[in-house]
Amino acid sequence: MAVIQRRRAVAVNVGGVLVGGVHPIVVQSMTNTDTADVPSTVNQVMALARAGSELVRVTVNTEDAAMAVPRIADTLDKFGVRVPIVGDFHYNGHILLKKYPDCARALSKYRINPGNVNIGKKHDDNFRTMIEVAMEYGRPVRIGVNWGSLDQALLTRMMDENAALPQPRDARDVMHDAIVSSALLSARAAESYGLPADKIILSAKVSGVQDLIDVYRKLAGSCSYALHLGLTEAGMGAKGIVATTAALSILLQEGIGDTIRASLTPAPNGDRTEEVLVSQQVLQSLGLRSFTPQVTACPGCGRTTSTFFQELAARIQTYLRERMPVWQSRYPGVEEMRVAVMGCVVNGPGESKHSDIGISLPGTFEEPVAPVYVDGRLFRTLRGDHIVAEFQQILDNYVERRYGVAETAEVAGD
Ligand code: SF4
Repeated sequence: MAVIQRRRAVAVNVGGVLVGGVHPIVVQSMTNTDTADVPSTVNQVMALARAGSELVRVTVNTEDAAMAVPRIADTLDKFGVRVPIVGDFHYNGHILLKKYPDCARALSKYRINPGNVNIGKKHDDNFRTMIEVAMEYGRPVRIGVNWGSLDQALLTRMMDENAALPQPRDARDVMHDAIVSSALLSARAAESYGLPADKIILSAKVSGVQDLIDVYRKLAGSCSYALHLGLTEAGMGAKGIVATTAALSILLQEGIGDTIRASLTPAPNGDRTEEVLVSQQVLQSLGLRSFTPQVTACPGCGRTTSTFFQELAARIQTYLRERMPVWQSRYPGVEEMRVAVMGCVVNGPGESKHSDIGISLPGTFEEPVAPVYVDGRLFRTLRGDHIVAEFQQILDNYVERRYGVAETAEVAGD
């Protein structure tokens, strides 16, 4: 596998989670509950953390939300959930952080949007106040630009300067430069107030894939701050997942990005943790991190006339994910295991041999047997009504013997 050369950013400690430098790319997420609703927010933070989110952001938009933050942190602590909480501030962050020191203390990082801290034309005062609070409590900040709330004064000035050129550049390029400039100017202002570079993370989010790639290439080439990477307002379903994956993969492949978020719109009553799984899958698919064993399954075709093969693939995938909370502490390295569930003899045995453990189910007109391969060799041939249970048992035994603490050199199935 090709080794990706990571851009070496200044490392930032966010509540014990290290972002940037040589540290693994961090997965983060954000709640969509009313932060003032402590039970709902606690429940969702716990769900996101258990799904694998290593940082969780909550909006802090009102006094009630600011008052709720320390209670949320205390409750999580009582449940033994240690995930750092990040506060998302807009417009009134300077007021809330000053007025509610317990909130400022309970948060591990403050997200500041430079595009909307200039209410009342007190840009520097408001921004500076938030930076001073961060310094007082030793917290890092994320200066998070979003083109939906870009500093309009900066954009207008840059557009005017461009228009005065003999050969004006494309307006979109100027917009990209304005986004990057907003992030960099704000970071340098924060440093001039005394916040060190190892307390600053930058993001510059847009919702178009090509725009995001252009903006982050410029940003990465202009500074050594740690970068939070994400396609903002990615959308719902396949569109959101594919657009996020397309944008993040290209940048991550170029070594850009120290922490990521998939900003997916959940379906009504949908599962918020999907965004965590998508981020993990992007990183694992690129070979950057491993979170859970991967199931290779063929798409099926006219040779698979029943849904049995799809059901087995789904069951194994779910089983592996459900076992991971226990397995990851008991069986180090199991997250890198590769499992194949294939639909017929055409590619089934070959793909199964390339995996750590694989099963090739019988296709139409094939003998009703399912060969199981372990470490590239035929291990056993299953038949009858208990193929699923027997394969699962072989899988369990394989995990125990290969990844158990008392690991043996020779690995057998059962
Ligand atoms: S492995 Fe067999 S069942 Fe699966 S897609 Fe290929 S030919 Fe079809």
